[in-house]
Amino acid sequence: MSDTLTPMMQQYQRIKREIPPDALLFFRLGDFYEMFFEDARVTAQLLNLTLTQRNGTPMCGIPHHAAEGYIARIIRAGRKVAICDQLEEAGAAKGIIRRDVTQILSPGTVMADCYLAAHQNNFIVSIHCPTPTTAQTKFGMACLDITTGDFRITELSGANDLLEELKRLAPSEIIVPADNSELISHLAEYGPRLTRHESWVFEQETAFFTLRDHFKTQSLDGFGCQTMDAAIGAAGALLHYLQHQLRRQISHVHSLQVYQKDDFMTLDLATRRNLELLEPLHSSERGAALAGSIDRTVTAMGARMLRDWISHPLRAVPQITARSQVAAELLENTDLLTELREKLREVKDLERIISRLSTSSGNARDLIGLKLSLQYLPVLRQLVGTLHSPFAVRQHSNIHEFPDLTGLIQRAIVDDPPLALKEGGLIKQGYDSTLDELHAAMHSGKEWVAQLQQQEIERTGIKSLKVRFNSVFGYYIEITKSNLAQAPSHYVRKQTIATGERFITPELKEMENKILGAEERATRLEYELFQRVREEAARHSAVIQETARALGTLDVLASFAEVARHQNYVRPQVDDKGLIEIIDGRHPVLEPIMQTDPRHMGKGGFVPNDTCLDAEQNQIILITGPNMAGKSTYIRQVALIVLMAQVGSFVPAKSARIGLVDRIFTRVGASDDLTRGQSTFMVEMNETANILNNATEKSLIILDEIGRGTSTYDGISIAWAVAEYLHERIRAKTLFATHYHELTSMAQRFSRIKNFNVAVREWNEQIIFLRKIQPGGADKSYGIQVARLAGLPHEVINRARHMLSHLETSALAEWSAVAEGGPSQTPRPSLKKDKSAPAAPRRKPVKPTAQMVLFAANPIAGGE
Ligand code: ADP
Repeated sequence: MSDTLTPMMQQYQRIKREIPPDALLFFRLGDFYEMFFEDARVTAQLLNLTLTQRNGTPMCGIPHHAAEGYIARIIRAGRKVAICDQLEEAGAAKGIIRRDVTQILSPGTVMADCYLAAHQNNFIVSIHCPTPTTAQTKFGMACLDITTGDFRITELSGANDLLEELKRLAPSEIIVPADNSELISHLAEYGPRLTRHESWVFEQETAFFTLRDHFKTQSLDGFGCQTMDAAIGAAGALLHYLQHQLRRQISHVHSLQVYQKDDFMTLDLATRRNLELLEPLHSSERGAALAGSIDRTVTAMGARMLRDWISHPLRAVPQITARSQVAAELLENTDLLTELREKLREVKDLERIISRLSTSSGNARDLIGLKLSLQYLPVLRQLVGTLHSPFAVRQHSNIHEFPDLTGLIQRAIVDDPPLALKEGGLIKQGYDSTLDELHAAMHSGKEWVAQLQQQEIERTGIKSLKVRFNSVFGYYIEITKSNLAQAPSHYVRKQTIATGERFITPELKEMENKILGAEERATRLEYELFQRVREEAARHSAVIQETARALGTLDVLASFAEVARHQNYVRPQVDDKGLIEIIDGRHPVLEPIMQTDPRHMGKGGFVPNDTCLDAEQNQIILITGPNMAGKSTYIRQVALIVLMAQVGSFVPAKSARIGLVDRIFTRVGASDDLTRGQSTFMVEMNETANILNNATEKSLIILDEIGRGTSTYDGISIAWAVAEYLHERIRAKTLFATHYHELTSMAQRFSRIKNFNVAVREWNEQIIFLRKIQPGGADKSYGIQVARLAGLPHEVINRARHMLSHLETSALAEWSAVAEGGPSQTPRPSLKKDKSAPAAPRRKPVKPTAQMVLFAANPIAGGE
C-alpha cells in the first residue's frame, strides 16, 4: 500500500505506527497541525471542526499558534495527543522535511500550567491484579502526580475497595494490563481515560527491575513494599509506561510511599458528595464546599495538600494531635502566624516548578520563580525554627536552603526573561565572558550599520537613503526612484521595489556576516548556559521537593490556625474512647455563608447546637421536626466536625471531644441517578444497603430521611427496621433525621435510641423555626404549616388540614397499633444472618375512609 502513498504520507504512517495507538497524531504542515484518517474524524468531532477530504483522505487542521487551547480541550476529554513537529526549516530540507514526535500529551501526565488546576493534584494510576478476580482479589495500585513527583502505592482487596479508592483519587488516567479483560470491564466507566498497556511490564519480576533501575537501589526494602507484589507490578508498569510509551523524563520521582486504606477514614463516593467535601453538590461556588470554606492556604502546595487531607482523614490519635498541636501553637502566637503566612505567600508553586525544570520542560521564567521562592527559605526556616511542636520541628528539618543555586540563578538569568528559549534574551551581562564578547560584536556591528546610513547620505547626497534589514536579504541600502541616478557604481543591485531599488555592498555583507554569526552563536550559547543552570536546579530536585512539601504542610496548619482565629474554632480533644460530645457546634460551611450573604442577614445568625453520641446510652439520635427546621444542617454539621477533627483541624464549636470513627456514612436527601437508570428510591435503598452491609460499631452514620421515596407505610416500616437493625446489630453511632414523628416511639423500646427534635414555635397557625435541637420527639410533622409558608393557596391549606385531622385519627392510628404492639408483633432480631433481619411492622392495607372517598370524588372545590 505504501507504494501508492506520497513520501509525506509514508512519513505520516511511519510516525503513526510509533506512537501509542490511542493517541491522536497532530502532524505539523507549515503553519498548521493536520490530522488524517480516523484521527481527523475523532478530532473534528471533539473540537467541532470541519472534516475535509483530499484524494479520499479525511483530514482536518488547526493553526499551530492556537494549538494549546485545542489540545487542552482534547486532554480534558480524556484523550491523548502526539505532537509531531518539523525538525528543520522548510528551505533547509533536501526532499521531504524531517518530522518527528516531540511530545505525547496525556490527561494524567500533562505538565504545563495551562492544562492543570493549581489547587488540585493530577493523578495517573496504574492497577495490577495478578490473580483472577474474586470478591477478595488483591489489587495493586500505584498513583503518581507527575507534576509534583508524589508517588504512592497500596494494595486493596476486592473490586469495591478498588473502585472506592479510585473515586477518592479521581485520576485523570488509568493504565491496566491489556490482557486483563475482567479488570478492564470493571473500569469501563473511565472510557478513553483507561489505557491498556503491555501486560508483561506488570509482571512482578519486570516491574521490580524497572523500579530498582529507576530508584538506583539494590532492593525495595527501603520503601517498605518488598512483599507487595501486586503493587510493585502496578508501580513498575507505571514508570515503564511513562518512560517508554510517553517518552517522559521522570528523574524527579525520587521515592514512593506505601499506604494502607485503613490508615484513613473510609469515605465512600456518596458520602464525599453528600457532605460536599471538595465540591458543592449544586452550586458552582467553591466556598459552598468544606474545602473552599476552610481554605486559608496561601501556596499552591498548601491548597493541594489541604484537599488531600480532607479526602484522607486520619485514624490514629498521635498523627491527628501532632497536626492540631502545631495549629494550636500558631494560634497562641498570632504575630508568628501572620508573618509565616505573609512569607509563605511569596513562595510560588515550587513543587510544579521543580518538576518542570527536572523534566526539561521548564523555561527561564520557572528559574526566576524558583529563585524568588528560594530567597524566602532562610526567613521561613528561621520562623518555623521558633515552633516547638514535634511535627513542626520535623517540618523545620525538611526545609533546606539553597544559597548557591539562588545566587547562580540571580547571576545568570535576567529578571524578566521571555518565554521562548531559543531566541536569546535569557542571560545577564557579566555572567559569561564569551557571551558578552558576542553581544559586544553584535552591538558594535549594529552601531557600524547605523553610522553607515549617515556616511552614505553624506557621500551620495541622497537624503532619503536608508540602511535596512529584513530576514530574506539581511542588510541592504534602499534608494528611492528619483535618486537612483546618484547611486554609486559599486552598489550591487539586489531587488527592485515599487518605490525604488535595494542594493548591497561587499563591506555591508561582511559586517552582516559578523553580526548574524555573532547573533546566532550568542543565542545558541544562551540556550546552552540556560540549560546548564536548569540542570543545576534539577540536581537539587529531591531536596527542593522535600522543602516544598514541608512548606505545604505548614501552610495547611497555618490555615487551620487562621480559620480558627477568625471563625472562633476550638481544638477538639481526639481520643479513641468512643464518645462524641460537641458543645455549641456550628456548621463550618453554612455559618460563614450566613455571616456574609445578604440573603441571610438580619435572621439572627447561625444557632449553635450540642451533640452527645456514645456506645451506652446515646447510640442513635432520632431527630424529628418539620421540614426546613434544620435537621439536615445539624446532622451534616456533626459529620463535618468529626471529619475536621480527624483531619487535624480545629472545629466550629465551644468545645468538642471526638472519639475516633473508622468511617462516616451518609444517606442524605433524594438524588436521582437517572444516567444509571436508577430511581430516587432505588438510589436511596442502595445507599442504605451499603451502610448496613459495611458499617461497624466504630462508624458514624448520618441518615437524612429513609423511605421518603415510597408510600408512607412502606417508608415508616423501612425506616423503623433500619433503625432497629443499627441498634441491635451494628451499634454504629447514628444521627437519624426524619419527618416521620411516628418513629419517636422507638425510644421507649430501644435503650440506646434517644429522641430529639428541632424546636419550633406555633403562633397564629404559623410556625417559627428556632433551629434549636432539644430532647424529646416532635408530635407532628408540621407539613401543612410549611406548605403554607411556601405560599400554597389558603383553600388548599384548609382542605389539607381537614384531611389530616381525619387521617390522623383513623388510618394512621392503625400504624401506631402495629408499631407499639410490643415484641410479639415485632420479633427481636436473632444473630443468624438471613432470618435475623428484624421484621418490619407488617403493612396493613389502607382501608378507604369516608373522608378519602370524599376527597377523591370531590377534590378541593368540595370544601368543608
Ligand atoms: P430540614 O433538614 O429540617 O428540612 P435544613 O437543615 O435543610 O432543614 O435547614 C433549612 C434551612 O434552615 C437551612 O437552609 C438554613 O438556612 C437554616 N438553618 C438550619 N440550621 C440552622 C441553624 N442552626 N442556625 C440558623 N439557620 C439554620
